[in-house]
Amino acid sequence: MALLKIAKMGNPILRKIAEPVSPKELETLEFQTFIDNMVETMRDSDGLGLAAPQVHVSKQVVVIESMENERYPDAPPIPLLVLVNPVFKYMSRETRTGWEGCLSVDDLRGKVTRSRAVKLEALDRNGETLVLEWEDFPAVVLQHETDHLRGHLFVDRMKDLSTLTHLDEFQKFWTRGEKDVREA
Ligand code: ZN
Repeated sequence: MALLKIAKMGNPILRKIAEPVSPKELETLEFQTFIDNMVETMRDSDGLGLAAPQVHVSKQVVVIESMENERYPDAPPIPLLVLVNPVFKYMSRETRTGWEGCLSVDDLRGKVTRSRAVKLEALDRNGETLVLEWEDFPAVVLQHETDHLRGHLFVDRMKDLSTLTHLDEFQKFWTRGEKDVREA
């Protein structure tokens, strides 16, 4: 396995619409190894999610994993999940607003408003269909990661840029009432 280089905001690959993965391509050893490398890169970066365009591959794949962590008591654990060609089937009109960070946007945090509940369909790494109906924090993670496949970053989703905050200042001024935020 190998660690992959993370593309940062400004790299055009982050703004492209990623291509779907064909069932044939998905089952190749090369693609399965790529998925393993994405997981390793996410864990090495202490991220809770990673999308293929963030590692310079414009394909519709994301990996998500959130371990139980006492620093993030509001973040329920999410077992390792590989999502291929994800599509939202439902996004609630009801919203929730929370801090987000991104491995492709160094040292910045910002408040983003997103749907509070979603239903998403995708393939797993074996090509089996997955249906997820998630709410609150896990639903936000799904939206953040799927956005990467459509060429969007969390900063695009901010209605009010006045909350865009450098990490040092975030930790100084905003983490008392708010929880720290992991990147995805
Ligand atoms: Zn991100």
